[in-house]
Amino acid sequence: MDVDKLNRLRQRYTDVGAFSVDDPTLKAAALAVQQPDGRRTFPYSGIPTFLDLPFATSAAGLDIALIGIPMDLGVSNRAGARLGPRAVRNVERIGPYHQTFRSVPKSLVKAADIGDVPFRSRYSLEQSLEDIESFYNELPAGVRPLSVGGDHSVTYPILKALGKTEPLGLVHIDAHCDTMGAYDGSKFHHGGPFRLAVLDGVLDPERTIQIGIRGSSSMFWEFSHASGMTVVAELARKVVGSGPTYITVDVDGFDPAYAPGTGTPEVGGLEAREGLALLRALGGLNIVGADVVEVAPQYDPTTNTSQLAAQILFEELALMAGRPLGG
Ligand code: MN
Ligand code: MN
Repeated sequence: MDVDKLNRLRQRYTDVGAFSVDDPTLKAAALAVQQPDGRRTFPYSGIPTFLDLPFATSAAGLDIALIGIPMDLGVSNRAGARLGPRAVRNVERIGPYHQTFRSVPKSLVKAADIGDVPFRSRYSLEQSLEDIESFYNELPAGVRPLSVGGDHSVTYPILKALGKTEPLGLVHIDAHCDTMGAYDGSKFHHGGPFRLAVLDGVLDPERTIQIGIRGSSSMFWEFSHASGMTVVAELARKVVGSGPTYITVDVDGFDPAYAPGTGTPEVGGLEAREGLALLRALGGLNIVGADVVEVAPQYDPTTNTSQLAAQILFEELALMAGRPLGG
């Protein structure tokens, strides 16, 4: 080892704290992470919130509101995604620095966990979807929601609330198209939110891309093709363009090796690394809201699925927060 170099390193780095860095971007990140007393918060301590963001009792004054939707009355097979928000809140140590965007999203926007959508009844799917829609309709203007489900039926009332003045584009990661029609006497279920949203005029199928689609539900893909959705591919940016766009991630889009904790797993899915790269390629889009859904913690003995869902939530927050440090 070069003795001069070693001496220089000793001079610069002996007895200085973790937040002493010279790179201007990292320095700004360190300042954003540091507490006023020079310490860092303990990631495993305190009352759990999404991404360890502050808790707020209302969305007033926020740029991004993180919202739990503990409702899974729309599942077709294994229930349990009602416990998803709790499981994702319990994941510690995601962020606050984003290595690809070189940003600390929570220092770019005012974001807080505003708790869960309140439901009138645990027994009625239709009533629960109404409750979600009115909750999102009552968010103050300018507040963009970032949500954790719940099963995928919850995205339909969100799209109804967000797309009522202008139909939205959609980036949709899933094993399933979720454009099925009614069965068992109900058009509301986690296999059909995007058909309903198109038919309601709140989702633009021409600006919708579905990624990761596979499995035995392929017999239900017709509506996606008939309505002009783009199924599969790396064309996401081109398809949604610059118009208002929503991002929805069903964790079953990922391979069950990475996300076993979900109600309708399908083998042969995205790897975690592929999915994160895909999300990170969406920087700069006009994102009006996002979600991650279908985390069912009772099938997740290692907590890997919750870990992945929390990371996805952080990716979505970083995308919605926009401008990277120094960018
Ligand atoms: Mn889905
Ligand atoms: Mn799915």
